[in-house]
Amino acid sequence: MLKHIKTSSDRLVNKRRKCDNCGTVGVIEKRITRIYGHGKEALVIENIPVIVCPNFGASYLEAKTLDEIDRNKLYSKSFARQRAIDVAVFAC
Ligand SMILES: [Zn+2]
Repeated sequence: MLKHIKTSSDRLVNKRRKCDNCGTVGVIEKRITRIYGHGKEALVIENIPVIVCPNFGASYLEAKTLDEIDRNKLYSKSFARQRAIDVAVFAC
């Protein structure tokens, strides 16, 4: 099971595009950052396109996006650049 965390977003409304699930026109296209895996194996993928339905606010990734994420995970050694980031652990 994938662990993912939404860490950022910016959105734009596509007034012509229909929701793949219910056909409502005017979906919101967002770009998000997700983290797959954890610890030393964690892979951060930025700028992932997400479609949000204006009807119920349900969001989904397109099949081509999922394929690209799989490709990034599979070939992260050649695709990914190493970058130092701050990581906080939620203490409860
Ligand atoms: Zn919908």
